Amino acid sequence: MNILLLGPPGAGKGTQAKRLEEHYGMVQLSTGDMLRAERAAGTPLGKQAQAIMDAGKLVSDDIMIAMIKGRIGRLGGKGFILDGFPRTVPQAEALDKMLAENKIALDAVIEITVDEVALVDRIAGRFSCKNCGASYHDRHNRPKQEGVCDVCGSHDFIRRPDDQADTVKARLDAYRQQTAPILPYYRAKGLLRSVDGMAPIDAVTQQIETILKKAAG
Ligand code: AMP
Repeated sequence: MNILLLGPPGAGKGTQAKRLEEHYGMVQLSTGDMLRAERAAGTPLGKQAQAIMDAGKLVSDDIMIAMIKGRIGRLGGKGFILDGFPRTVPQAEALDKMLAENKIALDAVIEITVDEVALVDRIAGRFSCKNCGASYHDRHNRPKQEGVCDVCGSHDFIRRPDDQADTVKARLDAYRQQTAPILPYYRAKGLLRSVDGMAPIDAVTQQIETILKKAAG
């Protein structure tokens, strides 16, 4: 299965993608994670992206398309969950082209819908495991044992610098203006499905799994 998760920042795309990766052996392709890895490694691309990300704006289409192209070409038949790409109509068009070139079909595009007022609260409280990337939240999703990652047992946690309230507002604006226009693009192709991202995390996973089962026929 090859799917795409859409939704504003804080909708739960990363959390759900990680679950699908664990349950189904699909590969999570998160362009945000790729950019953060470039930043951490101090590469020229990472340095270039830093200011843009911290301002809550979008990195250029050319850079993002080149970044995802290499990954799609190296999947070796594994299913993928795209998380954070495409984020603009030109990126969606470029994705279609590279999937066609690699003879890969998209099975579903899943929009995780959320109440925008809840988003800022969600984003402001989130943190993740520095070692394996598992995501948590101060109030809604704490590790089972305080200070210890449920997945890998690490004691190191991080918060994203772009999760501060001011930047979150800019990221929501970018979503509304640049990313939301891709919803009609996929609706017109008959691929768009929606799940209620305000439901508890397990219930959202179940909704996604129901869609995947239907898509698998
Ligand atoms: P994310 O982790 O998906 O929220 O992405 C974090 C930040 O990385 C975004 O706010 C953008 O600055 C940048 N970014 C990630 N994916 C893309 C993309 N497909 N196009 C443009 N910028 C992106």
